[in-house]
Amino acid sequence: MTNNNMYFIANWKMFGNLKSINSIKNVINLSTKLKYRKAKIIYCPPYTLLDQFVKKTIKTKIDIGAQDCHTHQNYGAFTGSINAKMIKNAGSKFIIIGHSENRNTGDTNKIINLKIKSSLNEKLKIIFCIGETLKEKRNKKTNQVINKQIKKGLKDIKKIDNIIFAYEPVWSIGTGIIPELDDLRNQVKKIKFFIKKTYKVKNPLVLYGGSVNPKNILSLREISLINGFLIGVASQNSKKFIDIIKKTIN
Ligand code: PEP
Repeated sequence: MTNNNMYFIANWKMFGNLKSINSIKNVINLSTKLKYRKAKIIYCPPYTLLDQFVKKTIKTKIDIGAQDCHTHQNYGAFTGSINAKMIKNAGSKFIIIGHSENRNTGDTNKIINLKIKSSLNEKLKIIFCIGETLKEKRNKKTNQVINKQIKKGLKDIKKIDNIIFAYEPVWSIGTGIIPELDDLRNQVKKIKFFIKKTYKVKNPLVLYGGSVNPKNILSLREISLINGFLIGVASQNSKKFIDIIKKTIN
């Protein structure tokens, strides 16, 4: 993966139906006009829409990702679950792992590690979410928490070329609040430093996620260390998503 690109990753969470797929038409049009090197757009719809999204974006520059997977690598008796193999088979190239909404409902660093390993085995590219809660931030535990999430989430993984990190402070997701710009710049710098030092890589990709919208993107885009954005609510509205993309790369 190259860091010449700015990544725009749309996390649709548990939203969307067959009708809403048509709304991405304008984003597809935009993607044909963008220079490929500059913007990489990835849609992560719910599982039920993966196949439709893959079909709709075939022969476009847009890629598709899933939002999570089961830890188990192979097929098995796990009612209601989807594994990385199935996600790959549905045509996805990417997968979000470690989202705080899933950490909140039971994903430990160990579980996240298993999910990452099974996804890497299926040659999926990982969007690995990390970030501190408000309590952890107030207790000045941010670096400790993030470094632990990275180390434990990537335990026994040597090559991290197929991993994109998404720094998402939990207190910023869906709240309309974003970090102070200087704090965010410093935090991304620290995360990159830690990854470089630990994994001996030159240019790790670190995105920011948390309440990105067409207004605050004008400040967020000034932080040149950030390699793109993971966008929830605003990405479900094509007009807003396009606005964010255009304002970032223009
Ligand atoms: C997310 O779901 O990863 C996210 C950042 O959501 P939102 O943009 O809605 O805060």
